[in-house]
Amino acid sequence: MTRLTGVILATLMLLGGCDGATPSDQAPLWRAEGKTMGTYYRVLVANPPAAALTGLNGAIEQQLAEDNHQISTWQDDTILSRFNRYRGTDPQPITTGIADIVSTALRIGAKTGGAMDITIGPLVNLWGFGPEKQPTKTPDAQQIESARARVGLGHLRLIETSNGQWLQKSVPDMYVDLSTVGEGYATDHLAALLEQRGITRYLVSVGGAVLTRGVSSSQQPWRVAIQHATDESVAAEAVVDLQGHGISTSGSYRNYYELEGKRISHVIDPVTGRPIDHKLVSATVIATTALEADGWDTCLMVLGTEKAKQLALQEGLAVFLITKTEQGFTTWMSPQFSSFIISQSDKGA
Ligand code: FAD
Repeated sequence: MTRLTGVILATLMLLGGCDGATPSDQAPLWRAEGKTMGTYYRVLVANPPAAALTGLNGAIEQQLAEDNHQISTWQDDTILSRFNRYRGTDPQPITTGIADIVSTALRIGAKTGGAMDITIGPLVNLWGFGPEKQPTKTPDAQQIESARARVGLGHLRLIETSNGQWLQKSVPDMYVDLSTVGEGYATDHLAALLEQRGITRYLVSVGGAVLTRGVSSSQQPWRVAIQHATDESVAAEAVVDLQGHGISTSGSYRNYYELEGKRISHVIDPVTGRPIDHKLVSATVIATTALEADGWDTCLMVLGTEKAKQLALQEGLAVFLITKTEQGFTTWMSPQFSSFIISQSDKGA
């Protein structure tokens, strides 16, 4: 098992690819890390061209701040917060970045019958996972229904022309929440920044999303471990070589709170308007981009184990699921996922 060199991000652990090679065999990894979007980012670079590192730290921080300024609903002066506050139905101008995110989210939402629904903001806020405070008592049916009335992908329209991009809502008090895909987008965007500087061997992560390219400084593949689905253990459930892909995990055992004796998950089912309460506790997706992986993982969490398996097989997705059972946990992976596996816990979760 390779040495753990990173932090545990959401439910992924970054293994810097050090495989026991002696330090002299490998130039040290260049690294940058810090806080962003209410979580953490990390950039590991192997053997960069010398000029590529000039001002790289500052460029990373600035780009993350700009991404935040576009899509955060946790700050009032962002493009998305202004769209959410706007109470009309005229098309509102957005950036190409937001258009890329929304286009991916609408496509995945349509394929999942709306299980992944970025217009879910009123329900996320009602259940206390947005910038507003947590409820002190369980929202009642009437509160859920009035929040649900403001939700639905059919009420959101993305307009893309050669002159620009716009978002248009048909429900004036719609509230778009990009929390489920923002980290994936920021990860891909940081990778593009590195590539523009001629860097071709890197591992980038923002929150629970990771993207790699090339090999680490010891010529070994970048390795990412999927953590056991419990808060207590940092053991790896499986270790994968991303082979230049993106990976993202959505889990229901970290981001939750207790209310009136019930565990309230941050993943909300748009159909019921309530947090999920089934036994699927972690869904990991590997895809060509971190944004794509980040979009699919949450919708699989909404669907639950059996429907998630069906969707993964139907869409040919690389998926790793961890389901809670009476005895502990069971895992399942799609055929596409197994091609990325380097090692898997023999305990089978
Ligand atoms: P995932 O499991 O990938 O998705 C769950 C999140 O998506 C939920 O938290 C909810 O917001 C939303 N969601 C729930 N159900 C659905 C559904 N059915 N369809 C679509 N979306 C759904 N957090 C802070 O505490 N402070 C901050 O300052 C802050 N700033 C942020 C800025 C940005 C730009 C973004 C994108 C997020 C920010 N966040 C902040 C939120 C935080 O980073 C995470 O996004 C959040 O905690 C969920 O992370 P996750 O990977 O567990 O989400």
